[in-house]
Amino acid sequence: MKKEILRIPIFVLILFIGIGYLISAEKLKVYISVDMEGITGVVNRDQVSSTGKDYNIARKWMAEETNAAIQGALDAGATEIVVNDSHGSMRNIILSDLHPSAYLITGSPKPLSMMQGLDGSFDAVIFIGYHAKAGTKDGVLDHTYSSSSIHSIKINNIEMPELGINALVAGYFDVPVVLISGDSAVCSQAKELLGEEVETVTVKEGIGRYAAKCSSLKKACELIREKTKIALEKREKIKPFKINPPYTFELEFNYSYQADYPELIPGVKRKDGRTVCFVIKDFIEGFKLMRALIALARSQ
Ligand code: ZN
Repeated sequence: MKKEILRIPIFVLILFIGIGYLISAEKLKVYISVDMEGITGVVNRDQVSSTGKDYNIARKWMAEETNAAIQGALDAGATEIVVNDSHGSMRNIILSDLHPSAYLITGSPKPLSMMQGLDGSFDAVIFIGYHAKAGTKDGVLDHTYSSSSIHSIKINNIEMPELGINALVAGYFDVPVVLISGDSAVCSQAKELLGEEVETVTVKEGIGRYAAKCSSLKKACELIREKTKIALEKREKIKPFKINPPYTFELEFNYSYQADYPELIPGVKRKDGRTVCFVIKDFIEGFKLMRALIALARSQ
């Protein structure tokens, strides 16, 4: 009888320790893909090209906005944060400028490009510094993967901005995109594609392709930090972005010669002078083939 009495408190104690352990061990892995055209203050090629005269200051702003998202993720209890530098050479963020709590994926090429490093172990994806798709009115530095070669990219007949294609990569791994920051044009494209639940931070309003009314860096960073926390806390409400397979990719290039090499790849068909298309079951394979075709188009 005495033993029975003792067993109850020990059992309760073990239960409490177990629950405590589970709570403290709850992980929150956050993935942040960072582009440059959608950073506040950035409106011109001089700022986004590594040889441009204003590049070195713009890359600092890029790191600042990224750090604001990292701070917001830490506020929400993030246990691991991976930042993927996703612009141009993908070597824009200087490691020593980045918040020490995050890992940095840097350099190019990477098999998954702007989404390198993401897998199903992550809980949420954040896009910082993103821009609108090619051909968007008042979209600051608008383009889709390649300004020099891509007129439009459609997947299952939906014309996609980079955010849509990259959100489908995240969806493949069942991870939701919870927040996007950039100009007003990319924010409305994000809501249109991913739904109203996704959080957006408008850091500037485009006035044509090469001008914008910009928030101060301080204000943009405050908003990004605040909204990142909110977005991560409601991540369960945001569904991963998915489209049912098979996937029909349609790439319309700027010039007809840019389709000449891509159409030589098995499975790729020439639709018209400037357009090639292919159908594929696996989205990641399609994503990689799309990138290879863009590289071929740019190689001439
Ligand atoms: Zn970019």
